[in-house]
Amino acid sequence: MNDGAMTNSSMTDTSPPLSADAILARCATSATHVAIEVVAETGSTNADLLARVDTLGGPLLRIAGNQTAGRGRAGRSWLSAPGAALMFSLAWRFKGPLHRMTGLPMAVGVALAETIAALGVPVQIKWPNDLLRDGKKLAGILVETQAARRDGGGDGAVWAVIGVGINLLMPDELEEQIGRAVAAAPWLAKMDRNELMAALLSRLAAVLAEFDDTGFAPFAERWNRLHAWQGRDVVILDHGRVLQQGRAAGVDAIGRLMLDTAHGPVEVLSGDVSLRLSSTIPSSNGLS
Ligand code: ATP
Repeated sequence: MNDGAMTNSSMTDTSPPLSADAILARCATSATHVAIEVVAETGSTNADLLARVDTLGGPLLRIAGNQTAGRGRAGRSWLSAPGAALMFSLAWRFKGPLHRMTGLPMAVGVALAETIAALGVPVQIKWPNDLLRDGKKLAGILVETQAARRDGGGDGAVWAVIGVGINLLMPDELEEQIGRAVAAAPWLAKMDRNELMAALLSRLAAVLAEFDDTGFAPFAERWNRLHAWQGRDVVILDHGRVLQQGRAAGVDAIGRLMLDTAHGPVEVLSGDVSLRLSSTIPSSNGLS
């Protein structure tokens, strides 16, 4: 395992270097069983861990100073600049079965949003799992799952690789490249990143352990308190086509978005659909 500390030579921040030992020393007991590795650069921490889950004996956190091929949902890209973001993936094994995992991205959103808010940066969640600051995207979450190998005792068990990118600083060139208004959190950028990572990992580990026992239901109310677009008119898009339109009414006990539509209540499963405010969609897209 690469447990090396990462130097700041290529970074724009002044934080002490990320190091597995420094993070572990600052973790709560919920996370002290998590193995940690730090790399200066990789393509995608999610891709790295997905390729290795069959070999893992327990949870593993992999943090990268930079990603050259960061991934969003449905093949979209997550862009970053060296030192400007906190990017990590956490591989975690759940009892399963797979259909119980529907609410996992939303539970992860709760863990991250509550931690970031407690550190002084209020954020909200856009369904299913983007973190918004002042209405702009501050962080993205990508959860990818894989059935655990049965010969490894994985009867119905599921590995989830939870990828997170949080913008700490947002250089102008990067915002231009992303092509839409995005948020950053300079306040968090001033923190020791080991401290920040430990706070996020500690709460995330506690939430994942609870989720494995209970499913999403106990998190629904916490998610709804953080809901960015409660009561707003929204559309659900599938590859640019409007699938549903209505008023956002929060999530239910399995993490589906509840919509009040002209034809009555509808629940939407996250899958690969996208949520947008109605006001941002041209009427030519099938909006009635
Ligand atoms: P959805 O609303 O369906 O989640 P999305 O457009 O937010 O859609 P994601 O897959 O969650 O898609 O994230 C990828 C998208 O995020 C990219 O297509 C890009 O628009 C945006 N993006 C890429 N890098 C960043 C970044 N560093 N900060 C904020 N947004 C980014």
